[in-house]
Amino acid sequence: MKKKVYIIQPTYHLKDGKLSKELPLFNYSYNLPIISAVIPEEWKKETCLEYTEEVNFDTDASVIILTSPGYDIVRSLEIIEYFKWKEKIVLVGAHLDQFSDKILKNVCDAVFYGYPNPAKMKQFLDDVEAGTIKKEYHFGSNLNFPFDYSVLKKQKMPFLPVITSIGCRNECTYCCNPPFYNGHYYLRKIEYVISDLKEAAITKKPLAFLDANLYNNREYLIMLCRQIVYEKIDIIWGAQCTVNIGDDEEVLNLLYEAGCRMLFLVLETLNNKNLLQLNKPMNIDYYHRQVKGIHNAGIHIGAFFMLGLDEDDEFTFDNVYSFFQENKIEVPYVHIFFPTPGTATAEGLKSDGKILENYFDDHVFRQTKFSAPCSIAYFKSAGLSKAELEAGFVNLFTKITSLKNIIRRVLVPDIRIAALILKMNMEARKKAKSMRKNKLKPESNVISYIPSRLNKVENTTYIRNY
Ligand code: SF4
Repeated sequence: MKKKVYIIQPTYHLKDGKLSKELPLFNYSYNLPIISAVIPEEWKKETCLEYTEEVNFDTDASVIILTSPGYDIVRSLEIIEYFKWKEKIVLVGAHLDQFSDKILKNVCDAVFYGYPNPAKMKQFLDDVEAGTIKKEYHFGSNLNFPFDYSVLKKQKMPFLPVITSIGCRNECTYCCNPPFYNGHYYLRKIEYVISDLKEAAITKKPLAFLDANLYNNREYLIMLCRQIVYEKIDIIWGAQCTVNIGDDEEVLNLLYEAGCRMLFLVLETLNNKNLLQLNKPMNIDYYHRQVKGIHNAGIHIGAFFMLGLDEDDEFTFDNVYSFFQENKIEVPYVHIFFPTPGTATAEGLKSDGKILENYFDDHVFRQTKFSAPCSIAYFKSAGLSKAELEAGFVNLFTKITSLKNIIRRVLVPDIRIAALILKMNMEARKKAKSMRKNKLKPESNVISYIPSRLNKVENTTYIRNY
């Protein structure tokens, strides 16, 4: 057996069945650098980010490893089936465990849950050599090793993904994190994060921390920023975190000093009753003050809202628009409420009979229909009909992506940040156009790519803890 591994992150099918060859800004992943880093030295390796590269179906690797966020599942199946036909060993890990359990497990040799580290990957490859592969590998959450950024340096990416932690200290009931981590998070040792930052800094590209919540641990964040400043690592970066960071002037000033120029805030709603229903421990009465605090520190803001929660009504669309305008949000984003399948909120809506469309099948197989932003009302909302919600959403999305608004947002001092703000806004504008176009067509004309050989997946979901 040739000791060689081929690591692939698949792309997905577009409406016409062709493969997308564009990496959307919100689909960046650190999985390739992680998996490449844990392959033992005695094994050769080759990688493929299919968004930008072609899969080498003639590879001489004996082991294929696929790492697949949810929207790539259909494409993953095609790749797995091809390599199984060529009698390769195929290991697959999906972003959400129910995809691995229900969809991938039967077609590949083994599925993995969590993140591999060097010891666990060695164990798997030893099993391959010994012919004792297990059906499941539980890799856990230990990311204390430097990642292999050489696999991304060659890619045409406007920024590079980095990470300090996985999980989140909060337990919002619609989010994919709590079912995995139950309100816990795992911090990487600062020395490994610093090592990654130095490696990524060589590219001179902006960096994006893909943590669910960079503000999970204040003391850790302070230490990390001080180390970046102390080691004079020349980077600019953005991250997602909770809005309450806006009250923490000391941390905000340190973030700026360490190169932070943009924070993404998942605000979700302008109604405290909605927040309560989602178990989101924030308070909308402080949003203006907190957003102002972040701007005062010189940091730009991306803000996300969901529409179609129970307390939303016909005024919600205008209220959200005014919030974006009054607070000068540089990257505004909205989508229709769509709780992750398997979460407490999704299960509750299901048992209350509030599901209007088959959201699980769409989420898994019809990436072209269920796209980001979600523009379909899959769930009944107490204050809005399906038609009102979908029309109000498209109108709002169109308003926030008007050229006049976009031009105003890109007038920021740093040209690199201006370029990113422009790219994110223009990508949203493109989506607004395509949503308006699709609304004019009958549903049957919106082609969804589902290989006919796939059986319909049972409409029940669960998420495994590991
Ligand atoms: S704060 Fe954000 S990442 Fe954390 S549980 Fe809530 S939605 Fe998820």
